[in-house]
Amino acid sequence: MTRRIVIKIGTSVLTGGTPRLDQAHMVELARQCAALQRAGHEVIVCSSGAIAVGRERLNHPELARTLANKQMLAAVGQTRLMQMWEHFFGIYGLLVGQMLLTRADVEDRRRFLNARDALQTLLAHHIVPIINENDAVATEEIRLGDNDTLSALIAILAEADLLLLLTDQPGLFTADPRTDPAATLIPEVRRIDETLRGAAGESVSGLGVGGMSTKLRAADLARRAGAEVIIAGGRVPNVIGRAAAGEAIGTRFPALEQPVENRKRWILAGPRPAGALLVDDGAAEALVRGGKSLLPAGIAAVEGEFSRGDAVLILTAERRELARGITRYDSGDLLRIAGCRSGEIADRLGYAYGAVVVHRNDLILL
Ligand code: GLU
Repeated sequence: MTRRIVIKIGTSVLTGGTPRLDQAHMVELARQCAALQRAGHEVIVCSSGAIAVGRERLNHPELARTLANKQMLAAVGQTRLMQMWEHFFGIYGLLVGQMLLTRADVEDRRRFLNARDALQTLLAHHIVPIINENDAVATEEIRLGDNDTLSALIAILAEADLLLLLTDQPGLFTADPRTDPAATLIPEVRRIDETLRGAAGESVSGLGVGGMSTKLRAADLARRAGAEVIIAGGRVPNVIGRAAAGEAIGTRFPALEQPVENRKRWILAGPRPAGALLVDDGAAEALVRGGKSLLPAGIAAVEGEFSRGDAVLILTAERRELARGITRYDSGDLLRIAGCRSGEIADRLGYAYGAVVVHRNDLILL
């Protein structure tokens, strides 16, 4: 069975914790990817390292930690990084194609579909997509900031079967193994809860950005979209082939049994909620158990300013997150129709976009 596999290679894996890229190890990773491809699978690589390579290329200059400096390092490093990947995959007869994305490319539904088409076409031509964040132009507002999140979005875009997060740790531990000798590896995670989030802590490894907590969030996103997720050590021998073959390695997160439907995955990947709708108990029940749409009658409060078509969070009165969805009314309209029956919408506003505020088809439960 062909599996579509997203492999996220963190900076710590590429450098082995040194200030330089470990080219021999990059060749080895390319070899493992090529073996998967030869076995009939589809491989997508999410490669970090642009900034680290830029630093190496410019001889580790002393620079202030400004966005512009990071952008410069990324601009220099990204081309070099791609040159290497192109060369190393070429050894195994594979072509690569670069895609540089930012949050803005997945926030808008049309751009999301456009990126998805590019990805699908590369795969259809047996070209290995190598993706990174477009760090050279990504300003604060449109940055994802870490490639764990980026790789989860790629898994959603690509409708991947497996997301493999390669890092400098063998997986997720019950506590931080660097400080707690009693920490043990967690082989499988079925529920992501507070205890687990606590165990993941805020560990950040070396030159990379993400720590275990960003990996957990990424894993959660991807498994909701129907991908299995594995966090494993990027230097474990033959880790890629072994993970793809289902061998017990690292920490595995099975895909949710009822993943978010395909056409709704964009809501999971893309837009940051622009506001929130607080709903009463009846509406909460109807959304969660009844599989219903959200009507104005169930809305108790409206927070934030947003337009029709924006993503909003749907919260209980106690502010528990229930769902995320696309609103059909803007915040100004909603302030006027919250709590009223759908039949009254047109009277109150002088127009109506239909009886529901967030349609079931535009909504995902959290
Ligand atoms: N996009 C960054 C880079 O290429 C890496 C972000 C991360 O380490 O998660 O340097």
